[in-house]
Amino acid sequence: MNREWLEKDFYKELGISSGATQDEIKKAYRKLARDLHPDKNPGDAAAEERFKAVSEAHAVLSDPEKRSEYDEARKLFANGGFGRGGFSPGGGYGQGGFNDFNLGDIFGGAAGSTADGGLGDILGGLFNRGAGGATRTSTRPRRGSDVETETNLGFREAAQGVTVPLRMTSPSPCTTCHGSGAKPGTSPRVCPHCNGTGVISRNQGAFGFSEPCEDCRGTGSIIDDPCVDCRGTGIQNRTRTITVRIPPGVRDGQRIRLAGQGEAGLRGAPAGDLFVTVHVSNDKVFGRNGDDLTLVLPVSYSELVLGTTVSVPTLEGRVGVKVPAGTADGRTLRVRGRGVPKRSGGAGDLLVTVKVAVPPKLDEEAAEALRHYAEAEKAGGFDPRAGWAGA
Ligand SMILES: [Zn+2]
Ligand SMILES: [Zn+2]
Repeated sequence: MNREWLEKDFYKELGISSGATQDEIKKAYRKLARDLHPDKNPGDAAAEERFKAVSEAHAVLSDPEKRSEYDEARKLFANGGFGRGGFSPGGGYGQGGFNDFNLGDIFGGAAGSTADGGLGDILGGLFNRGAGGATRTSTRPRRGSDVETETNLGFREAAQGVTVPLRMTSPSPCTTCHGSGAKPGTSPRVCPHCNGTGVISRNQGAFGFSEPCEDCRGTGSIIDDPCVDCRGTGIQNRTRTITVRIPPGVRDGQRIRLAGQGEAGLRGAPAGDLFVTVHVSNDKVFGRNGDDLTLVLPVSYSELVLGTTVSVPTLEGRVGVKVPAGTADGRTLRVRGRGVPKRSGGAGDLLVTVKVAVPPKLDEEAAEALRHYAEAEKAGGFDPRAGWAGA
């Protein structure tokens, strides 16, 4: 239950500052509790949720002991003491700083805690585990980080697949100091304040508390002569360009995972993955419906009535599409296998939708012919509105 505290801002819930006095807490709570009370807001689920949240916030903050636990925990987590991915000078390279933890480890390890589940116990347990770091194995090789990037593709590139260069900037171990953060020829020394554990323990009332050492910021080591190239961080942003094959058939907004193309792992660990989000531009002619390629084919009325064969573009060359005599406007004709390539082999279909283009102006000869046609059509018994609208 208490680990949920870390995700909650009880001060914000009550609308007070973190330095609020007990009096201010009480006042804020009373006012909110009055306004949000279920009796006053019957059937208002949102008010009820807020009422519960406010009550919980008050229960913790009005109890000085719980409040100080809560404050401590928030301070630690706000400092990013845990779960900062990647490596860090000293700590990450095997000396056992906080960076070897992630939250999953912490809570997993503390689950067997014997005490009443107080936050102090959970944290105390985990810090003690960390403080006994001499025997802890922290040399587990770490997989490289995943890298996110994006690329813009043309419609046809995305449909057919394309090889693109991707420029990526990502943090890598500094090449000058090999990630130690110390000037070449020097090395980080063990922090005398925490004896290299990165943790300072102190007792406060009933609880034993541990917190990151301030002298070494929890890394367990001190750098006297920082590396000039990375200013002691051990990290450099490196830009690299890799060539990536985008498979055919990707859609706009799709995120592609390229296994092992992310950051290199440390100490021989596997590399992370590269995720590429693809943006696909529209095409003037083609649209897509899954693996099918769509297009609208402008035709004349007479072409629909008499039938014709029209040359139509595809992703690869043109193809003759037969429009049968008597084709209705708006009908879709299917050309098998001329759509978007499928990853499983083969391709979708090309869907050609015919759309009548009406001439904006006719010359006299055509108009005259059309008048004759209209008469013949009527005489032939064609009624476009037969059976329409109840007629
Ligand atoms: Zn460096
Ligand atoms: Zn220290």
